[in-house]
Amino acid sequence: MSEVGTVVARYRRHSLIESSAGERIVCQLKSRSLNPVVGDLVEWHREADGKGIIDGLHERESVLTRIDARGRPETVATNLSQLVVVLAQRPVPDWFLLDRYLASAELTGLKSVIVFNKLDLGDSPPDELASYTHLVDHICRTSAKQKTGLTDLANAMTNERSALIGQSGVGKSSLINALLGDAYQTVSELSEKSGQGRHTTSTAVLFTLPDGGELIDSPGVRDYAPYISDPRDVQNGFREFGPCIGKCRFDDCRHLAEPECAVKSAVDNGDIIEQRYR
Ligand code: GDP
Ligand code: ZN
Repeated sequence: MSEVGTVVARYRRHSLIESSAGERIVCQLKSRSLNPVVGDLVEWHREADGKGIIDGLHERESVLTRIDARGRPETVATNLSQLVVVLAQRPVPDWFLLDRYLASAELTGLKSVIVFNKLDLGDSPPDELASYTHLVDHICRTSAKQKTGLTDLANAMTNERSALIGQSGVGKSSLINALLGDAYQTVSELSEKSGQGRHTTSTAVLFTLPDGGELIDSPGVRDYAPYISDPRDVQNGFREFGPCIGKCRFDDCRHLAEPECAVKSAVDNGDIIEQRYR
């Protein structure tokens, strides 16, 4: 009898799935053409000998794409609901990268949260941060070191399936460790029981957070590069551009030097920040 499950870890030949009853089962793929990734909903069944087999995949609601070493897009996780972008005093925030992440979230229909970490370093957060208040769903201020702001972050993740992303060194691993506590251990143990240590995890692992919600994590997810295939989509990735779209004199306006451009007017009167426009 076929059942529905969620892929919580993917290895080269196997997938670890969680059944609707909450049980975790190592499954093989029915055919090589199936390529489930973490977050996928799958149809699966149990063989007479107890082995799990994945028969098919459900349609994906959202897809997180990474550019692989050969410059090709690679799916690292599916069915996320939220991107959590981590920034810190040090390394100095890359606002352009932040905008690319936010645009990618917007275009994929995901919620977005900014975490400003390392508050313990003392300096006040950069002025740019305040201008993002209306451009994201929530801003958290944390110190993974002093364990402050973590409840606010956990609350923002309660009803979501999130991924933490951002520049190397901002504190993603530290925040994930602080959020997961013992839950982190459980998945590691299960992976070892299945005979495939964590180091062979090729894509990502889905964790259940102690206060509710889910977190998908792996090096590939943390370093994922936002991928926008059509440049014309870029404008739809910027929330504050919404009221301007379709109001320019020319339907195919690129918002550069065209006359009567609604986007440029919004930049001139301060409704769109110059840096985001650039
Ligand atoms: P990742 O590369 O984003 O995963 O960052 P890590 O979690 O590995 O952290 C990078 C460095 O920043 C490590 O030396 C951490 O100890 C340090 N770090 C992480 N969070 C904080 C924090 O809240 N405050 C301070 N002062 N240092 C932190
Ligand atoms: Zn325009």
